[in-house]
Amino acid sequence: EGLAMHFPLSGGFLGRNRGVLKAVDGVDLTIRAGRTLGLVGESGCGKTTLGRCIVRAYEPTAGAIRYRGADGAEVDLAALSERELKPYRAEVRLIFQDPHSSLDPRKTLRDLIAEPLRVHGRGSRSEIDDQVATLLRRVGLRAEYAHRYPHAFSGGERQRVVIARALALDPRLVVADEAVSALDVSVRAQILNLLKDLQDESGLTYLFVSHDLGIVEHVADDVAVMYVGKVVEVTSTDDLYTRPLHPYTEALLSAVPDPDPRSRGKRSRIVLHGEIADPSRTPPGCPFHPRCGYAEARCRTEVPQLREVGGRKVACHLAEQLELKGVAEAVTV
Ligand code: SF4
Repeated sequence: EGLAMHFPLSGGFLGRNRGVLKAVDGVDLTIRAGRTLGLVGESGCGKTTLGRCIVRAYEPTAGAIRYRGADGAEVDLAALSERELKPYRAEVRLIFQDPHSSLDPRKTLRDLIAEPLRVHGRGSRSEIDDQVATLLRRVGLRAEYAHRYPHAFSGGERQRVVIARALALDPRLVVADEAVSALDVSVRAQILNLLKDLQDESGLTYLFVSHDLGIVEHVADDVAVMYVGKVVEVTSTDDLYTRPLHPYTEALLSAVPDPDPRSRGKRSRIVLHGEIADPSRTPPGCPFHPRCGYAEARCRTEVPQLREVGGRKVACHLAEQLELKGVAEAVTV
């Protein structure tokens, strides 16, 4: 609720303060238990920072992260001290983006996967060895691999190790940050299927952070679209992909290749001019207005709030009109 992560900018003469970078700027979002929420947007929109706030790798500068724990009690993760956070660090885990850099090459798979178990005191040495063997098998690797080093494995296998480590403490919420982006296309489907199987087995909840809308369509139940630190549209995946309401969502979707040859030619590609706004110098009004083909005078002065429109949430002054007109038929730039 109202989650913000602002970084002070310093530099220049005597490290003088040069303003604030609003990486996440007042985000309201709900991740429903047992489901996958896709979080999408261009690089620099704040999606990775938001994911890191949720696992409390960053301490948010404002707002609350209300989390209902395994014990049924609700806590605000943003307000907890490091000591109070410890049990929740087991329940809320992060899968890193790049399996090549997130695994220490000097450690065996056993030591890599055992580390969170050891830190959280989950059993004796031999019990931890048994748990590591079980985790390796859960992610489709052989238990005998435990004593090998990461360099002996392919990118896809290393990402399985990263997933095994994230699952070691039986988490309830996993933030998967570009979890398959660094992998070959041929391996991506295997890892996505693995994540889905693990969800079916243990009721995991995912926040799936990705710039790839094609992948998110296949894994997410609901999708939130971010632009310059704010959520601009949230709805079910079916709704978003068949009937986007925010002009930015429409433009992002128009760039996704359509695998169905029968629909080829029906979709018009919307070319967005200019770069995503600098989060330290967001334009007044709607942050998307310099790139929006529908912008009107009020878009340049009034910030649109995220509000309910036709059963979803959208931050656009013209959401009702665009819904009536049908965004797909409206102006393309
Ligand atoms: Fe475009 Fe205006 Fe809607 Fe922003 S508020 S997305 S500028 S139409």
